[in-house]
Amino acid sequence: MYSTIDLHSHSTISDGILPAVELIAHAASHGVKILALTDHDDTRGLGIARATAEPLGLQLINGVEISVTWKRRTLHIVGLKIDPDYAPLKHGLEAIRLGRHTRAEHMAISLSKTGIHGSLEGAYQFAKEGIISRTHFARFLVEKGYAKDTKSVFKKYLVKGKPGFHEHEWASLEQAVTWIKDSGGIPVIAHPGRYELGRTNMLLLIEEFRALGGKALEVVTGSHTPPMYQEYAKYAKMFGLLASQGSDYHGKGSSYMEMGYLPPLPVGCIPVWHDWPEAKILIESGQSPMDDMTLNACASAIASLGNTASSGENSANSSTSNILEKTIKKLESFNWRNTL
Ligand code: AMP
Ligand code: MN
Ligand code: MN
Ligand code: MN
Repeated sequence: MYSTIDLHSHSTISDGILPAVELIAHAASHGVKILALTDHDDTRGLGIARATAEPLGLQLINGVEISVTWKRRTLHIVGLKIDPDYAPLKHGLEAIRLGRHTRAEHMAISLSKTGIHGSLEGAYQFAKEGIISRTHFARFLVEKGYAKDTKSVFKKYLVKGKPGFHEHEWASLEQAVTWIKDSGGIPVIAHPGRYELGRTNMLLLIEEFRALGGKALEVVTGSHTPPMYQEYAKYAKMFGLLASQGSDYHGKGSSYMEMGYLPPLPVGCIPVWHDWPEAKILIESGQSPMDDMTLNACASAIASLGNTASSGENSANSSTSNILEKTIKKLESFNWRNTL
């Protein structure tokens, strides 16, 4: 049975193919009951998405996916239930979008040195009313015949070490988590399995994220394999974090996963929506995303969260090596068999 909750998706406001209105209709027709629109660094799609969702009986969650630089790597932090009008979040996202424009100019200059001209204008034509992203450069390059599809164009031109790549400094992890949290939202590490951080850095990242006020990990996502679902379910449990899920749908041919095909979270996860009124509505209308047993398991797991998570005050003030030492100790003493 597939889950009816999808907490990660993109419209043409970022690099999705469908305008928000069509994305909502697509989600509804694929059986999704609760959908978060999480465009990269932009919340302009949320108003129209909400107006479309309501008459279709779909519960819309205000979301965003913020680009972050952490230890010279790019990470994505999803914000769920954010207030898009919260000024620091709004201004923070504006600054990131300005940075996107500057990066795009550098990318175009760099591509022109390899003989590919007009890519800035070309990419902007694909971006239309939305933000400018590498995906739009990819679509332009495919259209011009430089590669056969988006996947190969990324490999050939748009990743580190390739001519169209330009190193860019996004928001800090602290900024992204703080903007989301202070706007009333829930910070989530998006698709952690995609970063290829290695175990030590993954532990450091999750601990730092948690100490800053981060609340959840994406456990089931279109860009994780089933073994990764289990792996990140364990990390969530270990750090006392909630579990999120989402298709990361970008449109047909541009997605890892079609909408409406998310498997349920692994047993033992506390869903990020465990206390959401939107989920309660589903339960009451007999379209429960959680049976009684799961709900009870959630309640007892939540009660014990304080014990599994390490103390926030201490970690926030600790040096990096202290945090690392503590998390590795915790990892060593962690009894995996008792968790899932
Ligand atoms: P940007 O935020 O502008 O750097 O663009 C990142 C976006 O490009 C991601 O959100 C994905 O949608 C897309 N993307 C990244 N890597 C790949 C890839 N290897 N193949 C296809 N799309 C990709
Ligand atoms: Mn994207
Ligand atoms: Mn992402
Ligand atoms: Mn995404």
